[in-house]
Amino acid sequence: MANPKKNNNCSFCGRNKAEVGILLSGIDGQICDQCLQQGYEVIKEELGAPVVNKKNSKQQFELVKPKDLKEHLDLYVIGQEEAKRHLSVAVYNHYKRLMQPSNEEDVKIEKSNILMVGETGTGKTYLARTLAQKLQVPFCIADATVITEAGYVGEDVETILTRLLQAANYDVAKAECGIVFIDEIDKIARKSDNPSITRDVSGEGVQQALLKLLEGSIVNVPPQGGRKHPDQKMIAVNTENILFICGGAFDGIGRHISKRLNARPIGFSGDDTFHDSFEKDQIMKYVTAQDLKSFGLIPELLGRLPVITYLNPLDQVALLAILTKPKNALVKQYEKLFDMEGVKLTFTEEALTYMVEQAMQYKLGARGLRSIMEAIMTDAMFDIPSQTNISNFEVDLAYAKLKFEKTVFHQMKVVA
Ligand code: ADP
Repeated sequence: MANPKKNNNCSFCGRNKAEVGILLSGIDGQICDQCLQQGYEVIKEELGAPVVNKKNSKQQFELVKPKDLKEHLDLYVIGQEEAKRHLSVAVYNHYKRLMQPSNEEDVKIEKSNILMVGETGTGKTYLARTLAQKLQVPFCIADATVITEAGYVGEDVETILTRLLQAANYDVAKAECGIVFIDEIDKIARKSDNPSITRDVSGEGVQQALLKLLEGSIVNVPPQGGRKHPDQKMIAVNTENILFICGGAFDGIGRHISKRLNARPIGFSGDDTFHDSFEKDQIMKYVTAQDLKSFGLIPELLGRLPVITYLNPLDQVALLAILTKPKNALVKQYEKLFDMEGVKLTFTEEALTYMVEQAMQYKLGARGLRSIMEAIMTDAMFDIPSQTNISNFEVDLAYAKLKFEKTVFHQMKVVA
């Protein structure tokens, strides 16, 4: 006789009817909604591209105007006007490209992949991330440093697209309209100007491999990432409509820029007078493809990154603004945390300036503000939830100093 209890369980995962949404019965077993869903995903993955009407997917987007995109970026990212404008326009044009009817005779709009140059911690990744919130296309961030030329230890270049596929929930047609941010592109610069006898597998080799992704071709992507192997089922992805945004710090590129600027107008090559007339902080805005080539990017790659934009180093004023102004500024986040305890948290101007000064002194930039704030606030966040008689808490200069001087940062300074 059939076991009535067993009949109420999913034959795949064993869950009881009470634990699942729907339990479908077959001749000799049952399947629950969750196993069905999983099964569907497996089939979709195994068969590769789902059947999608690409013509329809072209019409799906609601155009977000460049000004609106920039306004969104302004809410979170301080300064970096040039980069914001370039990004907003490029993304807007990307949408327009996607919506262009596929009429052979029409003018073909080419995609304008972007290269962002700026010191570390100036907001390149943050800009890309913030942009992603506003986008209606899949978006992913990949790191160029983990990629090596095919056949060497490291990841294949195609794994960049694995992330995009994941972001698109393995909907290939959707992924093919997506945006990819490749971070640390400067780390794959050619190691030296002279072709070397040893292979440059994590530098020029990767740049060569990236070309085929950036120019628009059909790429076989391993659905789960990692190294490709012969038995693995691949998903074919056409990169023609994928927008690539690359970012890098390009440490030392200032020298290439000033060398070029020095050499050109007056002909005083080797003379530093012309260089000196440029503020060190301002030099980035003169960056061109030529400087990036001298830095070690191959011309073919630069040719596929036609929009070059820069991010300014963050000065004290910008760091102070980052602490207080953005929609989710650090100060606002801590105020919220304390507010949830029924405590009104305030910071004096001097305390905030002190935090910024420490970030500048230790060359931590915006990224360091969070650790500095955390170092100063930890004791208060530990004690206050257990105190019932407190309704206001002010962080002044003396308190900030006292707490910060106890931290490892400060000990680093003493050692130095
Ligand atoms: P990068 O990619 O240029 O190295 P990030 O974008 O990762 O730097 O910046 C690190 C952190 O610093 C971000 O998560 C953000 O909190 C903060 N930050 C950096 N630049 C800005 C900026 N211009 N406006 C607001 N926050 C910023």
